[in-house]
Amino acid sequence: MENYIETLNKSIQYIKGVGEKRAKLLEKLSIFNVWDMLYCFPRNFEDRRNIYKINDAPIGTKCCVEGVVLRKLNEKRIKKNISLFALNIEDESGMMFVKWFSNPNYKIDIEYGTHYTFYGKIIEAYGRREMELEVMEKSSDIKNLLKIVPVYPLTRGLTQNVMRSLASECINKITTLKDIFSNEILKEYNLMPLDTAVKTMHNPKNFEILEKARQRLVFEELFVLQMSLLSMKENTKKANTKVISDTSYLDEFIKKLPFTLTDGQKSAIDEIMLDLKDEKAMNRLVQGDVGSGKTAVAAAAMYVAAKNKYQCAFMAPTEILATQHYNTLKNFYGDDIKVALLTGSTKGKKKLYEEIENGLYDIVVGTHAVIEDGVKFKNLILAVTDEQHRFGVNQRARLNQKGITNVLVMSATPIPRTLALILYGDLDISIIASLPKGRQKTDTFCVDSSYKTRAYNFVKKQLDEKRQGYVVCPLVEESETLDVSSGEEIYKTLSTGIFKDYKTALLHGKMKPKEKDEIMKNFKEGNIDLLVSTTVIEVGVDVPNANIMVIENAERFGLSQLHQLRGRVGRGSEKAYCILICDSDNETTKERMNIMTKTNDGFVISKKDLELRGCGQFFGTRQHGLPELKVANLFTDLEILKKAQSLCQKVIKEDPDLSKNKMLKERIKSIFQKLENPDILN
Ligand code: ADP
Ligand code: MG
Repeated sequence: MENYIETLNKSIQYIKGVGEKRAKLLEKLSIFNVWDMLYCFPRNFEDRRNIYKINDAPIGTKCCVEGVVLRKLNEKRIKKNISLFALNIEDESGMMFVKWFSNPNYKIDIEYGTHYTFYGKIIEAYGRREMELEVMEKSSDIKNLLKIVPVYPLTRGLTQNVMRSLASECINKITTLKDIFSNEILKEYNLMPLDTAVKTMHNPKNFEILEKARQRLVFEELFVLQMSLLSMKENTKKANTKVISDTSYLDEFIKKLPFTLTDGQKSAIDEIMLDLKDEKAMNRLVQGDVGSGKTAVAAAAMYVAAKNKYQCAFMAPTEILATQHYNTLKNFYGDDIKVALLTGSTKGKKKLYEEIENGLYDIVVGTHAVIEDGVKFKNLILAVTDEQHRFGVNQRARLNQKGITNVLVMSATPIPRTLALILYGDLDISIIASLPKGRQKTDTFCVDSSYKTRAYNFVKKQLDEKRQGYVVCPLVEESETLDVSSGEEIYKTLSTGIFKDYKTALLHGKMKPKEKDEIMKNFKEGNIDLLVSTTVIEVGVDVPNANIMVIENAERFGLSQLHQLRGRVGRGSEKAYCILICDSDNETTKERMNIMTKTNDGFVISKKDLELRGCGQFFGTRQHGLPELKVANLFTDLEILKKAQSLCQKVIKEDPDLSKNKMLKERIKSIFQKLENPDILN
């Protein structure tokens, strides 16, 4: 027997019955080698274990029936190459026809008066039961028929039977699949051996054992993923960085703030200070619900770094947000710290670049451009990225490649800790669990268009109280030109109609950065009462005096996105309101709206979002840059994830460079080779 790894990596053409043509078809199912075929698990199963009496056979489902063949095979020619065949069968309960289509030349020998077992879909025709036959077998020989049969994903040109026989060929070729787990671990975590699990996934004896096999593979999949992320973390940790020795400046910063920090903010800052003092690089994620005050946390870290004569970069996903952060920092710091703003529209870049390189600025705030272009720093020590969900694993790796060793990321989408561990497994996590004192729940209502006038009259009332408001319009089909018209239309109607006596403005993504800045500035300063906007205000925008938001066509937004949008109001101590306008009858849409009206808790909302949308869409591989999961579902398999995580911690502790776990090391390497940054793991 040859090396099993070699066998697994052999082209699928190595399997009997697969030539070039079939191999091409299999490629469409992403099956290239034996391993792929083994891991191409059935998408479903047919349960052929029970034999029904003819008169009890459930109509509309597939099942087995046993009976005696009464009469000769009946054939009716339909087309040149197709005949409809029918058999009349009988058991104690009754009689029925078994029918199928087939090539007339393909005759089957049937012994009359003999017992056969038939499998197929039961239908009702002329008030009687009939079967659309799929398989039949002599009853003396039915061990092949009475079982749970796999149903594979198909592509045009491949049949179930071909896939079934390919799968069993592959299974037979592999005598033992080597485990990455030792016998002790298998025992401790109650896992079946890998080869049994894979075989069971294709041919389960019953559904209980199938679930056990699936859980075992889920465990392995999540374990390997976790291990990959943890070893990434270990690797970045190993990097040494310059140390910020004097963190006493923190008190100075706190005194400058116009508010008292919350306990959550304090503990996040404390954790960051420890990281900065340590010569191991920092890789930390700060998670906190919208409005929990993440900016102040970042500002504290950068203040201390700057006071120690180092430079920092602060990155935001949009120009609006970068500009806002720039102003916030200047307000916090006064003239104490030199802050520069660097965005696409910044004038006199060349001079600014020089000044940054000469160390004239302590902090550079900007969009991604801050790291991606040729900006050189004199002594950069810390990079902060805001609204992390737009920065994937790969971007973080790029930061590290730039020699920026201390990284602080702020997440806009709070997610449960266990999931954060998967998604950001390479980061340490700080959670700001509380909101600043005095915040009130944003009352949220969902109404249909017929309530629009009433809704906007309510907005008017708020504006009359000297508050400000937002009207959010969806992008139409993501088309930028349509985006403008959707916002423009609504803006026109509102500004010339019900709000004609108020100061209104329109903001959308296609505007020039300067125009956008101007409008945001005016809104912030209270010169605009009502801002009609597309989702450009989604992340981070902070205008505490705004306390009411209307979201048009709310059905177009995902749950987490709605939560982010709503987070633009309720940032001060005033009572805030959010009105969702939605005309959809779709059940999931209704559920989304319902959740929004019920809770303001971002953690609850993201969990629900995950449940409604499924993990694939929620995380989107593109976004986090991780390999796709084949068997695991991060939402429903949370318990297994926890177990896998505990094993990971144990392995990393006992065998940090995986020298005793060679198989595992290989697997992790191959995962990263598929990612954009193969050099992540040295
Ligand atoms: P987010 O976590 O959503 O980024 P921000 O950092 O923008 O939140 O803060 C939201 C608002 O809360 C800002 O106006 C900020 O000045 C204010 N804020 C932050 N921390 C506190 C605090 N401890 N007490 C009162 N207000 C605070
Ligand atoms: Mg923010």
